Amino acid sequence: MTDKNFSDQKVLRGIPVSPGIIIGKARLVDRSRVKILYQYLISDDQLSQEVERFKHAIKTTEEQLATLKNRMPDKINKHSFIIDSCLMMLKDSMLNDSTIKKILNEKINAEWALKKSLDEIREVFSQIDDEYISNRINDVENVIEKVLRNLSGKEQESLAEINQRVIIVAHDLSPADTTELNINMVMGFITNVGGQTSHTAIMAQALEIPAVVGLQSVTDLVKDGDLLIVDGKTGRIIINPDDSAIIDYQERHLQREKYRSSIARKSHLPATTLDGHRIAIKANMEFVEEVTAVKNHGADGIGLFRTEFLYLRSKGLPSEEELYQDYREVAEFISPLELTIRTLDLGGDKFASELEISKEMNPALGLRAIRFCLKEPEIFKSQLRAILRASAHGNVQLMFPMISGLQEILDAKEILSQVKDELDSKNTNYDQNIKTGIMIEVPSAVTMAEVLARHVDFFSIGTNDLIQYALAIDRINEQVAYMYQPFHPAILRMIKHVVDSAKEAGIGVSLCGEMAGDPLCVSILLGLGIEELSLNSRAIPLIKKIIRSISIEEARMDFRNINRLNTANEVRAYIQDRMKALVPELQEKGYLDI
Ligand code: PEP
Ligand code: MG
Repeated sequence: MTDKNFSDQKVLRGIPVSPGIIIGKARLVDRSRVKILYQYLISDDQLSQEVERFKHAIKTTEEQLATLKNRMPDKINKHSFIIDSCLMMLKDSMLNDSTIKKILNEKINAEWALKKSLDEIREVFSQIDDEYISNRINDVENVIEKVLRNLSGKEQESLAEINQRVIIVAHDLSPADTTELNINMVMGFITNVGGQTSHTAIMAQALEIPAVVGLQSVTDLVKDGDLLIVDGKTGRIIINPDDSAIIDYQERHLQREKYRSSIARKSHLPATTLDGHRIAIKANMEFVEEVTAVKNHGADGIGLFRTEFLYLRSKGLPSEEELYQDYREVAEFISPLELTIRTLDLGGDKFASELEISKEMNPALGLRAIRFCLKEPEIFKSQLRAILRASAHGNVQLMFPMISGLQEILDAKEILSQVKDELDSKNTNYDQNIKTGIMIEVPSAVTMAEVLARHVDFFSIGTNDLIQYALAIDRINEQVAYMYQPFHPAILRMIKHVVDSAKEAGIGVSLCGEMAGDPLCVSILLGLGIEELSLNSRAIPLIKKIIRSISIEEARMDFRNINRLNTANEVRAYIQDRMKALVPELQEKGYLDI
């Protein structure tokens, strides 16, 4: 054990997003864009040297791209044309010759000249009336970013190459970054920005690594190699902890693991309340590899398969065949239990990393999810074909995300029926009676729930987005994270309305936002009529245990009382008291901490 140095220890509190305690060394990674800090004039006698510096940066970038291409695994080798197009961009005269001309004519440094060339290229792209082509500006920007890094000598570290057990400390990690993490080495991560239900947070849970986000300036406070304690349940970070903190957290870690394994032993029992109501507890998942863990954690099926991560992982679009193989594997593995496959939900924060700048001002309100799919029918159809084909091998349901009104359902179903006709004409097998449902996560869909219920087989309430859109708070913005309130009476009333509408129409309804895995929310959800939850599979044993400790009768009574309260704080205080009384060990084990 190291010498004590009390003065070094710093304690921070962030937003806990994936539970677990880890103690390890920090690794600072820079995922931010290179800032062009220096714009300066070049004297005549330095001009040729500056041009050489630029040419050298271009050459280094070409070499890096070539190495990347050679290292591409066989599985994705067919997408190497993407790298070829980057190599061609580097040779393009608008980027290359024009920058050199600017250095020579305007006598400015290479970074400044390159930035000016980028502005000109942006201008040209903005005038192109074809969305696909105009969006390629992102590729140009990424290539220029690489050149700028080489000019500044700031290399971007590949997260896949981390080969020591470390805790990642970053300004931000995009969902795409997290798909690259080497989880045998990365113990967990902490970031300056982010919120509880950002997709980066959801990925951390899927990978079962502790994570804390929204720490604001942790990258300024931590140095590479500093010892860190990260508590992914409370959000507490200790930088350079003293000996007593280390011993304390090792003990807490042991205690929590002991409790986790004690409840895990009962995770295969059904979630039946004290008064005999069976609640279905399904799992949310993002990666095919998770399906074994889903089963081991005792899930009653998969209530939400977020398919976009397969797209984020592959370079270029995955083929229908690749998608089909993945979906089939999951469907067969989990059969006869249900697998609900949600169609692509790209957009929002799943493109909005700093590295892949989206053109949209408000990506969460932009071309996301079903809107994107209806605009890109070929991409949509390829996924629908893969899902339908997989439905021949298990108990598959189909779900459309981010529905805001009836027209989108009609349009999506029209495309679905075209795909079915196509498969029929080729005698391809699929489940002719496949159930089709929608996510309820936009306030307008809540208002229209009675109407929408007549057109679909089930609803799944996505509270992560519903809270974001109803309370007007960006789910990935740590500045407003305090306002992200599942207990807000408006949210509870919306959920109640959706549940009542579904029941009235005789269709199924479940809830698959992060609320479903929150020990404090379960009893309220049961009280308002939810009978199916879908959650991060690690939380299943605990949520089942809570359900086995409460009765629907009491949960309904509590909901009637809660319905009279007018603020999120009052609701939280009420339910905290009740849960303390109903499941005292939740308090002892720290699950009721704010
Ligand atoms: C939700 O919005 O609650 C949801 C489950 O979908 P996602 O988190 O993938 O947006
Ligand atoms: Mg959502």
